[in-house]
Amino acid sequence: MSRYSVFSLVRNALSYHQNWQRAWRSPDPKREYDIVIVGGGGHGLATAYYLATECGITNVAVVEKGWLGGGNTGRNTTIVRSNYLWDESAAIYDHAMTLWQGLSRELNYNVMYSPRGLLHLAHSVHDMQEIQRRGNAIYLNGIDSEFLSPEQVKAMVPYMQMDGRYPVLGALLQRRGGTARHDAVAWGYARGADAAGVDIIQNCEVTGFDIQDGAVVGVETTRGRIGAKKVGVVAAGHSSVVAEMAGFRMPLESFPLQALVSEPVKPAVDCVIMSNGVHAYISQSDKGELVIGASSDAYNSYTQRGSFDVIEDTLQAICELYPLFTRMRMLRQWGGIVDVTVDRSPILTKTPVRNMYFNCGWGTGGFKCTPGSGHVFAHSLANGEMHPIAAPFSMDRFHSGALIDEGAAAAVAH
Ligand SMILES: Cc1cc2nc3c(=O)[nH]c(=O)nc-3n(C[C@H](O)[C@H](O)[C@H](O)COP(=O)(O)OP(=O)(O)OC[C@H]3O[C@@H](n4cnc5c(N)ncnc54)[C@H](O)[C@@H]3O)c2cc1C
Repeated sequence: MSRYSVFSLVRNALSYHQNWQRAWRSPDPKREYDIVIVGGGGHGLATAYYLATECGITNVAVVEKGWLGGGNTGRNTTIVRSNYLWDESAAIYDHAMTLWQGLSRELNYNVMYSPRGLLHLAHSVHDMQEIQRRGNAIYLNGIDSEFLSPEQVKAMVPYMQMDGRYPVLGALLQRRGGTARHDAVAWGYARGADAAGVDIIQNCEVTGFDIQDGAVVGVETTRGRIGAKKVGVVAAGHSSVVAEMAGFRMPLESFPLQALVSEPVKPAVDCVIMSNGVHAYISQSDKGELVIGASSDAYNSYTQRGSFDVIEDTLQAICELYPLFTRMRMLRQWGGIVDVTVDRSPILTKTPVRNMYFNCGWGTGGFKCTPGSGHVFAHSLANGEMHPIAAPFSMDRFHSGALIDEGAAAAVAH
């Protein structure tokens, strides 16, 4: 892999950028791999990267039905944080946070991780109780978290309407929270995985599994059968569809979730501001667009678009909280499909089919955990046992009742 640096930029500028090496190959599938990953989003690519670079397993394929990052990875609002309530969540999300901090350097690819600070606003007594309980739990887990008084919020975000229809009573601040560039994460992991020997096969849909004596031995795809000693399914949005192909049910519901961006403006929002109570959040991209997230639709669907009433509600809340933005025009809107569990925590698990593993159920908030999830899932696949950080997220919890209820921390889509 040729290194990206200021020198390579200058060298390639001299040849009019005609000689850049391809970031990853486009190989035909081999007859068999040690591990096949289904799904070329951030989590699948990160899994393949860590399998090859940390676990010494390079005979790996990532099989993607469309293009890399074309699922939720390239559709999310890029928010990164680790301020969840329960210890199990703190362990996995903060593991990701640690990896985010060195990721651009590790991948030699600028993922634009920007720890600009993230606020969760409280608009009611109930919100205040929730952020205080969660804030203390986060703090006890050694993760940064601070309460802000209304005056401190106003000092940080002077244009916020503090006493309107949604009064601001306080906020929870995670200073290390912020954003990262979503598609750069997919491309950085893809480039690193490819360089380590992983085959990335796009336009190749998995349509079924070859299961013999209760163990998976291959995947059926639109480009033929591919043999596999192990399979890791990381197909957010379609996890239950893929599980059905393997003959079992995943406890998931799929919803459309949408986001929108405004016309670009000069720098105005220098942190991420989230409001669970009104289901709206904003940040500003480096291009100047306000990146606005909404809640998920109320009905199940596999369409990658959302309904208009959600946009209307979200923009109404944005205008209430930030009157400054009332005359802004919206530029683009899009949707993704999120797989949601009953406790709003992900599923990283073995399955009833031997040698088949699933990583799914990240719902509205999996982007932030891309490095952590890929890292622990790779180790789980390599060792045949779930990594200790991943183990509490097994699907057994829906039988045992040991749920990890993150309903409040994940209340607004993000
Ligand atoms: C509008 C929106 C905003 C969001 N905002 C945030 C946010 O700010 N912060 C945050 O942390 N999270 C956010 N999320 C959630 C986050 O995007 C996801 O949890 C995360 O990207 C999931 O990553 P993934 O790699 O598991 O899935 P994906 O990126 O969806 O990748 C799964 C891949 O599997 C492929 N696939 C599916 N079926 C098959 C098949 N049969 N064969 C082969 N390939 C298949 C798909 O094509 C897809 O590319 C948001 C989501 C949306 C939709």
